[in-house]
Amino acid sequence: MKRTRRPSLLPLALVVALAAAFQAPTAFADQTNSANKASAKAAAKPISEEQLIAKAKGIHQRVLTLDTHNDIDVNNFAFSRNYTQELENQVTLPKMIKGGLDASFFIVYTNQATDAEAFTSVGYKRAYDTAINSFEAIHRMTTVLAPNLIEFARTADDVVKIHAKGKKVALIGVENAYPLGDEKTAIKRVKEFYDRGARYMSLAHQGHSQLSDSNTGEAIGWKWNGLSPLGKQVISEMNRVGIMVDISHPSKESMMQSLQITKAPIIASHSAVRALADASRNLDDEQLLALKANNGVAQIVAFNTYLKTDSAERRAAFAALRTEFKLGETVSLVGIRRGAPVGISEELREQVLKRLAEIDAKYPAPSRATVKDFVDHIDYAVKKIGIDHVGISSDFDGGGGIEGWNDASETFHVTLELVRRGYSEEHIGKLWSGNLLRVMADVEKVAKQLQAKK
Ligand SMILES: [Zn+2]
Repeated sequence: MKRTRRPSLLPLALVVALAAAFQAPTAFADQTNSANKASAKAAAKPISEEQLIAKAKGIHQRVLTLDTHNDIDVNNFAFSRNYTQELENQVTLPKMIKGGLDASFFIVYTNQATDAEAFTSVGYKRAYDTAINSFEAIHRMTTVLAPNLIEFARTADDVVKIHAKGKKVALIGVENAYPLGDEKTAIKRVKEFYDRGARYMSLAHQGHSQLSDSNTGEAIGWKWNGLSPLGKQVISEMNRVGIMVDISHPSKESMMQSLQITKAPIIASHSAVRALADASRNLDDEQLLALKANNGVAQIVAFNTYLKTDSAERRAAFAALRTEFKLGETVSLVGIRRGAPVGISEELREQVLKRLAEIDAKYPAPSRATVKDFVDHIDYAVKKIGIDHVGISSDFDGGGGIEGWNDASETFHVTLELVRRGYSEEHIGKLWSGNLLRVMADVEKVAKQLQAKK
């Protein structure tokens, strides 16, 4: 925003009076003068709502906005139905353009299977095929469906260059490394996934994988007490090829062990603050401080239930329902409500939905989280670990979205709230992408060094 030249608007008498007041007769005249001018300016100019919005709009336009976690449905990457259209999901190209969202990590997600075949070659093949379909869908968007609107980035530098051309930027994050398979395939597939464009990867999702415990172990117990032996090798290989380690879903112990092994900074691609919302998915203070010490970044997530948690009674009712219907660790109640495939029969789903409605009536959900609640989590993290270690994510199309930032078209509201809280343009730039791109560049550098050693 341009600075208003206030004095020219002041009545002449006041200008004269002010000028007289500034005639300080000491040797420190200049210093006093500028101090007086500064305080007069601050006092005379409380920023109006209109000015605040204009200022935020300028900042939103100038900074590179990057959301580290947007899920996809491969069915939205076909000629007849794709992201160039105004689909009902939360991220599409028209929504990114309208909301000024410049860059997005699209997610290659694989549900953690727990059936008898889950950790056999059959289960791994299933998971691998799912992952490859997602990789191919994302590349189809940038090469065939909308190459004039969005381009694929393989480095932090690419992100900046593509944005400078006026195009949207696509990147890939892998949520759950389960598709890497067993000892025979896992290590070579890390490189394969890198070549397919993966730039961050989490070793588990909901439920333990062959590589790592999940945060869900807090409720159901641990499998590895952190990382498995193969998981530890995978972390080293991710360092070597240049994939950021994402600790958003793995357990706290898995994160701490990853930090022991990694030679590069790591990220939480979509997590909130546990001190403000007690969910096992969120980062407690010790985890936040560990991320800072590692020079990593916590991408705070705009996900309702991770920003505002349920009452103790409501949580107890959900736990009782899980026990009663024998819902496995990977069956998500949010998924059941959303109609997502969670591996239960339609009949069972209907019964659970009926009980969920009863629980909702008896112990109502907290009011939906707003952009203010979201920025409360950002504020907390910034105060705890500093402006250089915090970022922004939505988890759109994977359960994310809050009042005011409910899809990519509303992205400006986040910047507006940050401006309202007094964040500078420089700091907003760091939150929106600067910190994440710094980590990404560091990971690239470490990979080059490790590769040079061999
Ligand atoms: Zn997730």
